[in-house]
Amino acid sequence: MKVLNQTISQITIPTPFAVGDVHVYLIKGDTMSLVDAGVKTKQAWEAVQTQLKELGYFPNDIEQIILTHHHPDHIGLIEEFPRVESIIAHEDLNAWLTRDETFFQHYENFFKDFFITCGVPEKYLSIIDKLHGQLNLAGRGNLTSIINEGDYLPGHPEWQVVETAGHAQSHLSFLRQSDGLFIGGDHILKHISSNPLLEPPPLGEQKRPKPLLQYRNNLQKCLTLGIQQVLPGHGSIIDNIDELIPTRLSRQEQRAKKVLTLLENTSMTPFQVTQKLFPKRYETQLDLTLSETTGQLDFLESQGLIQQEVIEGILSYHAV
Ligand SMILES: [Zn+2]
Repeated sequence: MKVLNQTISQITIPTPFAVGDVHVYLIKGDTMSLVDAGVKTKQAWEAVQTQLKELGYFPNDIEQIILTHHHPDHIGLIEEFPRVESIIAHEDLNAWLTRDETFFQHYENFFKDFFITCGVPEKYLSIIDKLHGQLNLAGRGNLTSIINEGDYLPGHPEWQVVETAGHAQSHLSFLRQSDGLFIGGDHILKHISSNPLLEPPPLGEQKRPKPLLQYRNNLQKCLTLGIQQVLPGHGSIIDNIDELIPTRLSRQEQRAKKVLTLLENTSMTPFQVTQKLFPKRYETQLDLTLSETTGQLDFLESQGLIQQEVIEGILSYHAV
């Protein structure tokens, strides 16, 4: 637990995930809000109660919850606060909270088609059943308000919403212009680069999002917002985004160069590129590694450096 200033405190919650602890933020204003809600475990709930108490509060004092994105380590405890009536987030988050069957069917169909198009062999397709993550660790509910770019947080008009899709399609961050504080969820982390994860297009749309391109654009956007300090979802508070963001962007460009070299004299499917890039991880983490590869391919294609062709339903890329 860390009191950051008069209106905002950081509460740190354990998760069973490789990423480790997750931070949520208590904001005091006209209403008492929590930004993000940890993971749904007994240990997490105990950690929240203990730290709230150290700050002089009880779960009963929390009036609304605002969510940065839909991943289970950020939405777990939304049902636990007795007085919370408002749950506020990007509209894409609702399907995750309500466990919308149509949405999950669409999600699985998209990944099945996508994996096949990418040249993934039949024997790996069973991974799709696990793709929508550990929903048992995620909270259930219904959004009561939808927010997006440019909106102000209900009850906290000094905080403005910044759309930061990339790591997740539902990702939003929150900026307080007066002092440049930025609640960044998983958009900018100090110790690791946030994985821009592949997701299906919204229901009824055909074109899938290109999360790495969105992520790069939104990192660049963050350099123009006057951000002084990032309060992240994981790891240390960040004071130097003017150095960190350009480093992140150029590291990614270097990784893309490696992919370009692979495609110089030959044509490869996204699955073959993934095998080359992640020889040790592709089998056990096919979703993450294929997502990363797809990002680099989208980037190179957007730069006009590679071209795709589809032969008998299978996608492949080669350098131009
Ligand atoms: Zn996340």
